[in-house]
Parts: sequence; structure tokens; C-alpha cells
Amino acid sequence: MNPKSVIACDIGGTKTLTALIDIEGKILFKERHPTPKQSAEQIVELVSARISKLPGSQGIDKRSILGVGIGVAGTVDMENGLVVSSPHLPFKNTPLKQMIGDSLKLPVLIDNDATLAALGEQKFGIAKGIHNMVMMTIGTGIGGGIIIKGEIYRGTTGGAGEIGHMVIDVNGPEDDCGARGCLEALASGDAIGEMAGGISGEQVAQSAGKGDQNALRVLKRAGKSLGAGLANLVNIFDPEMIVLGGGVMIDDKIIIEEAKRVVAETALKPNRDTVRIVISELGEDAGLLGAAALVIEKVNGER
Ligand SMILES: [Zn+2]
Repeated sequence: MNPKSVIACDIGGTKTLTALIDIEGKILFKERHPTPKQSAEQIVELVSARISKLPGSQGIDKRSILGVGIGVAGTVDMENGLVVSSPHLPFKNTPLKQMIGDSLKLPVLIDNDATLAALGEQKFGIAKGIHNMVMMTIGTGIGGGIIIKGEIYRGTTGGAGEIGHMVIDVNGPEDDCGARGCLEALASGDAIGEMAGGISGEQVAQSAGKGDQNALRVLKRAGKSLGAGLANLVNIFDPEMIVLGGGVMIDDKIIIEEAKRVVAETALKPNRDTVRIVISELGEDAGLLGAAALVIEKVNGER
């Protein structure tokens, strides 16, 4: 009999990652595919096919798989296995858990991708052993996850952790969420590109690297907004650690330095003196490892 392992899947706006992970959090195999954009059925087809092939392709007996954990970029009703909505994917009240689980005969759990990234860092990454932490994922958009006393904080309806939509500037640019000047509209990769005149966030970072003054100004402005958001988190949650992850912008020192400066100057004491603001250790694997942790926790809980 093989040692137990878990299948994890991270369905993002551009790519879908699928992996086999052992119960110690070691990634045994990982693959990536572009996420189909046409319909939910296409995504289900891709994910189901990968999940059913994965164990066999790695010489692992399917019977040793504990279950499947899936992270989705969107609002997830975990209890009912629904993806309520998603800004970048064709999901609308989609019963994803049932659609994927039906053909597999394996337990399937789904959750928001950023929430799972938080869990991944807390179980297997830089926040291992930390009980109070907040994760912020900065990519095309901004997502988040909150862990309090070692457990994911989900709020009343499961919608907690939407850090990207906290309002920083009520007179700021409008976001898809309907608010003006939320963090996502001011500091996400898309927002940075927009501020620089309609290029991509990556291009802005490259130009800044070459000393382009406008790009540098844009990144500093984004860093300032990010810092205001982080200071709010520090004041409200008094976390031991805030982990920044996701996307290319996180490699941008200008944004991070500016954000840390704002936190040091404006967040309240003693919170600001104890919090550690760090960069994700797991990178793009955080969501996968969180998805694995979710399955492992559930199976252990049922024993
Ligand atoms: Zn928003």
C-alpha cells in the first residue's frame, strides 16, 4: 500500500495547477494548464481529466488518495460546494464540488484560492506555527485570507477575507466590485498598469527598473495605498505576521518598501512594532498546499 496522498488543484484566472501532495506537504508532482475561459463545463472537463489521470501517471494507487482539494479565484460557498461568482472565470452559482466529485468517487472540498494560500503558508510555509496571521495575494487582483487562533476566519456567510476590497480612497477609481478606491483599484497589477497609461503591471516594474520616473511614481503610489491597507490590517487584527504573495508585483521592492514605511509611520502601537510583514515562501504553490491541508484536516477530523 502506498503512503497516503492528496490531489490539489488551483484554478486561477490564467492558469490551472494540479498536483499530487503527500500528507507532510511535499509536492510529489505538479502540472499546469491554461484555464479555459469559455464555460464552467470546459474547466470541469479539464480538472476532472487531470485529477483522474494524475495518480496512475505517477504510479500511485488511486485507493491511497485521501481526497481532492480545489482552490478557485472567486467567491466560494464552501458548505454547498458552489462557486457563487468569479471576476475572471465563467462561474455563476456553479455547483463545482458536485460537478467534479460525481465522476471521481473521491471526497472533494473547494474554497477560495487566497484563503487556501493563507492556510498553505500557515501549515507548510513561512507562517508555520503562527496562530494569528493575514495573507494578502497581489496579482491581477488582490485577495486575502485571515487565520485567527490557527483557524481560517470565514465570517458569517463565508465571505470574510476580501482584503482587496477594503476602501482606501472613497474618491478613487471605480472597481468591478462597485466600490471606489478599494485596494484592488489602487494597488493590484491591473491598477498599476492602468495608472501608468494602460500597460501591464509587469511592464511598469520593468520600466521602473530602468529608471523611468513615471513608472517609479506609479509604483510608489501603489505602495502607499498598499501600506494604508496593511496598516488597517495591523490595527484591526494585530496579527503576528502578514504574508504577501501572489503575482509578479511582489518582487517589486519599491512597492514593498513604500508600503512598510507607511505601516511603520501610521499603524498603531504596539501592533506595528510586533507584526512581521514578510514575502510568501511557497510562491505559486501556497494555494495548492492549502488545498491539500484542507483535505488532510478534514480527513483527520473525521477519524
Ligand atoms: Zn473592489
